[in-house]
Amino acid sequence: MKELSVVSGRWFIKLYRISALISVYLFLIFPVFAQNKPCEFNSKTLQFTGKPVEQARCLLRPNKIGGVLGEQLEKLPFPLEKLVGKKVKIKKENLREYLQKNNISEISIGGFLDETLSKAKMLGGEEIEALYFVIHDTSSPYLKDEPFPANFDSDADWKGNDLNIWLKQPVAHAFVNRLGESITVNDFSKTVTKGWGTKFARDFLKIDGKGLQIHIELVQPRRRDVNNPNPANDLIAPVPGFTEEQYKKLALLYIAASVRRGTWLIPAFHSVLDAGIKDAHDDPQNFELQKFAQKINYLLRKIDDK
Ligand SMILES: [Zn+2]
Repeated sequence: MKELSVVSGRWFIKLYRISALISVYLFLIFPVFAQNKPCEFNSKTLQFTGKPVEQARCLLRPNKIGGVLGEQLEKLPFPLEKLVGKKVKIKKENLREYLQKNNISEISIGGFLDETLSKAKMLGGEEIEALYFVIHDTSSPYLKDEPFPANFDSDADWKGNDLNIWLKQPVAHAFVNRLGESITVNDFSKTVTKGWGTKFARDFLKIDGKGLQIHIELVQPRRRDVNNPNPANDLIAPVPGFTEEQYKKLALLYIAASVRRGTWLIPAFHSVLDAGIKDAHDDPQNFELQKFAQKINYLLRKIDDK
């Protein structure tokens, strides 16, 4: 008995140590794992569950360094909470008038307003227009250990502000540089011609569902975090992450896509869509949702005023 109890005692200590180690391990990984839980997806409808506004509250969760996601939002900032999923009331001619007044061509903001958005084929064979407006940062140029240049937000000659380079990299629909200029490399009526836009589209939407996502890339350079074990990491993004002009053009692209569809699209962060997938992307970094919402509100008033 004694011997047995000694053995049991040793085993007890061993087990205690192992379980303590497991608890520490779980404690270390659990916060990240729990927060990076993907939003609930229905593979039959190819959509997330809940009303459009509820989906957006999950798909716009705060996105921190390395793609670590925060909690789901309780409410979207005004006016997104009351717009997402609802019918668009803007008159197309009013939007056209605003564009003309501001010298913005339809072709630079996703293509002609009279055309529909890209389509996805559902399981039953019916087709539906894109529903998700996916926000990305380019994570390029990659500056490695160089500092962020002094005037990269206003210098048209800075290499990152050259939008033509993306014509050869049509991985999204439109790109917006730090000056707020935009280029369309895939019309909103088509799916992206290079790649999938997100790992989520590759793995879950696949070829028939790829058309559900419209992808916008905001130019944002990245630097290396020397303290990170991966020597090729690009974890450091500028603060603020984007310029006022970038938010304004992003808001206009969102309005243009929604006017074309007739209902307000569901905005989403790339990082949240990819949550739970191996090598998930971490973009957009330092995105201020409040600023995006404010620019939408500003443009709605401008378009209405004409
Ligand atoms: Zn992305």
